[in-house]
Amino acid sequence: MKTIGLIGGMSWESTIPYYRIINEGIKEKLGGLHSAKIVLYSVEFDEIEKCQSSNQWDKSAEILGDAAKKLEAAGADFILICTNTMHKVAPEIQDMIKVPVIHIADATADKLQESNIKKVALLGTKYTMTEDFYKERLIKRGFEVLIPEADDINKVNDIIFNELCVGEIKEESQAEFCRIIDDLKNKGAEAVILGCTEIGLLVKQEKSSLPVFDTTDIHANKAVELALQ
Ligand code: GLU
Repeated sequence: MKTIGLIGGMSWESTIPYYRIINEGIKEKLGGLHSAKIVLYSVEFDEIEKCQSSNQWDKSAEILGDAAKKLEAAGADFILICTNTMHKVAPEIQDMIKVPVIHIADATADKLQESNIKKVALLGTKYTMTEDFYKERLIKRGFEVLIPEADDINKVNDIIFNELCVGEIKEESQAEFCRIIDDLKNKGAEAVILGCTEIGLLVKQEKSSLPVFDTTDIHANKAVELALQ
């Protein structure tokens, strides 16, 4: 079994599901007392968020690259960055280590392709929804990507940082997400990417009018698959 390296803590609320899903996946495949070999480097999220909001992406790449190097030195065979947003600096992190970084958007694109989805809605932080680093990766794979209207981009972003990342799950925010998903469905989306690792804590498949592609779930299960290869 290979050793999985996780760069977590962004936020820690979503790192817990990664740990659980990976171990559940290994247990499902191997049974008995089997569990995953994981090395976790959990960062101080306040530091990372300050880099994001002050546009100091180079600094955040250094912090996460340093974490990746430590994971590699600790024996990780491959690395997951447990947030969609910080994949903005995934190329810089990859350049600092030899083991592969498993890109969350690629794992998600594989799953969308398996389901024959062509037009997909993307929910995530304002960085993930409005910038190219994530969407372009999906567009290059042949998907059409729909994002919410400007007001709703802010709403989704605020709910992520002010509620989900601090462990607050509110019914009214769930209703807002469902309304935004309905709106994107009416615009032709065939599925929705929960492109932020905390959204799955709020939006469950049974509440969504579109098939849900939860990046936390997809990314963590990809790690299980690779660990057992
Ligand atoms: N976990 C979130 C994501 O998947 C947001 C936190 C962050 O900004 O890294 O994008």
